[in-house]
Amino acid sequence: MQLAPDCHVPVIWKPSSRARRLSLRIDPRRQAVSVTLPSGLSAAQAVQFLKIQIHWITKRLTALQQAPAFLPGRTIPIEGKPHTIVHHPTARGGVWIEADQICVSGAEEFISRRITDFLKNHARQILGQELRAQAQTSGLRPTRLDIRDTSSRWGSCSSSGRIMLSWRLVMAPTAVRHYLIAHELAHLRHMNHAPAFWQLVDQLTPHRHHAEAWLKHHGSALLGAH
Ligand SMILES: [Zn+2]
Repeated sequence: MQLAPDCHVPVIWKPSSRARRLSLRIDPRRQAVSVTLPSGLSAAQAVQFLKIQIHWITKRLTALQQAPAFLPGRTIPIEGKPHTIVHHPTARGGVWIEADQICVSGAEEFISRRITDFLKNHARQILGQELRAQAQTSGLRPTRLDIRDTSSRWGSCSSSGRIMLSWRLVMAPTAVRHYLIAHELAHLRHMNHAPAFWQLVDQLTPHRHHAEAWLKHHGSALLGAH
């Protein structure tokens, strides 16, 4: 859809009879804007709204296009350190790490899938260890950890004490992971973002401001990596 001269933006329209107002979000996997359209609203009104938001939309989509791609020759971060993807078509062993390389065997069309699976497993190990370590020192104990792929959230904590973390965090630097784990652990005591919650977060980790700033700049690239 053309929202401004020389500016084509992929839009996914989602008509909804239940939505009260027009809302938009970025769909990182489809690299598009997803627009929820309440039934009372005309298409012209919706387009007008998109035009007003065009600066925000193009900024977010450009960041996504710079997202790391899981392809040979590309460099992706693992635990914050750059690793170059090297294809070994005839080797055995799936995916393995050698110094600053991430090596992948097998057919080219499965590379992205194999690296995703490898990173998910790696995330389960790393984030599991880090969560257990912080739970031990803080005395805040989650009932369980789920590693998920959510398109917009890094983590969450349920009232039953379950913590969810995105596997994509395994690409982020250590300080960022430390903060996000501390954030979700703090929700075990405070299910809100009131001042007492932030006080506890700051007791658990010194990285809050740095990590928030890092996520603001680099977060959407990690969410879009594929
Ligand atoms: Zn929170």
